[in-house]
Amino acid sequence: NGMSNLKVSDVPPPKNKGLNVVQEYKASDSKKSISFVVVGHVDAGKSTLMGRLLLELKQVQERTVDKYRRQAEKSGKQSFALAWVMDQRTEERERGVTIDVATNHFETPTTKFTILDAPGHRDFVPNMIAGASQADFAILVIDANTGAYEKGLKGQTREHVLLLRSLGVQRLIVAVNKLDMIGWSQGRFDEISQQVSGFLTGLGFQSKLVSFIPISGLNGDNIAGKTEDAAAGWYKGPTLIEALEESEASSARQLTKPFRMSISEVFRSQQQGATTLAGRVDSGNVQIGDAVMVQPSGESTFVKSIVMDSESREWAVAGQSISIALTDIDPIHIRIGDILCGTTDPISVGDTFTIKAMAFEHLMPMPIDLHRGRLHAAGQIQAIPATLNKASGAVIRKKPKVVQPGEVARAIIKLNTKVPLEQGQRVVLRSGGETIAAGLLD
Ligand code: GDP
Repeated sequence: NGMSNLKVSDVPPPKNKGLNVVQEYKASDSKKSISFVVVGHVDAGKSTLMGRLLLELKQVQERTVDKYRRQAEKSGKQSFALAWVMDQRTEERERGVTIDVATNHFETPTTKFTILDAPGHRDFVPNMIAGASQADFAILVIDANTGAYEKGLKGQTREHVLLLRSLGVQRLIVAVNKLDMIGWSQGRFDEISQQVSGFLTGLGFQSKLVSFIPISGLNGDNIAGKTEDAAAGWYKGPTLIEALEESEASSARQLTKPFRMSISEVFRSQQQGATTLAGRVDSGNVQIGDAVMVQPSGESTFVKSIVMDSESREWAVAGQSISIALTDIDPIHIRIGDILCGTTDPISVGDTFTIKAMAFEHLMPMPIDLHRGRLHAAGQIQAIPATLNKASGAVIRKKPKVVQPGEVARAIIKLNTKVPLEQGQRVVLRSGGETIAAGLLD
C-alpha cells in the first residue's frame, strides 16, 4: 500500500477538488501535443521539408529565409537555404546530459508539434534513436527520382525503418518528395507507394497506419496548402499538415493509465520547503492536491501547483510538458531522470529487465549504459536468451554467443542500481560512447 509511505508533514496538503481530469481535458479546448521524428536517406530532403514546415507555420520569417537564400547563393548552394533554417533553429536542449535530442516546435489551430532530432546533422543515427525513442510517429521522406528511392530503400531508409519498428513506433507518414522533378507523375507516385507499402508491411508495419503524400518540400506543394501545379490535379488526399493533425498522439491512449512524469529539471523554490519539477507527463493525469511519489527514492508528497505555458493549471494530462510544485519534499531525494508517479499505483523499481532490442554493434554479455530519456544507469548485458525475427518476433536462434549488428534479440539487463522502469518503455543501450542497441522493455 503506497499510502503507508506518506510521511507526516506539518504543512497541510493542498485541497484536492477530485476532478475527473480526463473529462475536463476532453471538454477543454486544449491542443493535443504530438511529437515526431523525420527519417530517410541522406539528401531525400528531410531538412528542406522541416524548414518548409517551420516557414509555412510562421515559426520563421520569410525574410530570414531570404537572408539564407542570399548567403546560400553566394556559396553556390541556393537550394540549401531552407535546410539551413532547421540547422540554425535547432535547440540542443539536452546537451551534455545523456544523448542529444534537438527539438523544434510549431503549432496549428488544433495541435502542438515537436520535431525531435536534428535532420541537418550528418551523424544522424544516434540523434534519430534518441528522437525516435520519444516519438508518437515518424515522417519517412523518400526521393521520388528514379534510382534515388530504390537506393534509399536498400540503404539508410531500411535501417531507419527497422529501428523505428524495434522502438515500437507504429504510425508512419511517407512524404514522397521532389515530385516537382518528375512532373508530378501520378504513375510514379502510385508505383512508389505500392512498393514502399510492401516493403513496410514486410517489416511488420500495419498498412492502415501508413499514409503516402506526394509533396515538394522545396516549393512547398501539399505541405500546408494544396499544390497549384496543374499537373498535380490528380491528388485529392490530405496535405502533409492535415495528415499530421489527423495523427493520434500515442499519449491519447495513455490518458487513463497510471500517472507518470519523467523529471527533466529540479528547482528548489524560494519558498521554504517547496520544490518544483519540470518534465513531460508520460501517462495518466495529475491534479492539484494529488498524493505523488518520486521513484526510485520512494519519497511522497502532494501537488501544490501546476504550470503549463507559463499559466497556472488545475490539472495536466499525458503528452503535456509542465512544471509542478510539490509541498515539503527535500530535493535531495530527486534526480533528473527520476519518475514522479501516483502513490496508489507507483512505478516499480528494479535492477533486472528483459528487453527486445535491435543491435547496431555486436552484442554479447558486456558492460553497458541503459538510457531512457534523461534516465541513465550503468550495468551489463547478463544473458542473451534468443535472437528474434524482426517482423514476427519468432525465435530464430536460442542462446546465441554473439548478436550481429542488424539482428533483433531478447536480452537480460542487470543494472548496478535500482531504477524506475516498466514494460513497453523504449530504451537505448550505449557502450563506449556509442549506441549499440535500442528496443522495448518486455
Ligand atoms: P536531407 O539530407 O534529407 O536533409 O536533404 P536536404 O534537405 O539537405 O536536401 C538535399 C537536396 O535536395 C537539396 O539540394 C535540396 O534543395 C533538394 N531538395 C529537397 N527537397 C526538394 C524538392 O522537393 N524538390 C527539389 N527539386 N529539390 C529538393
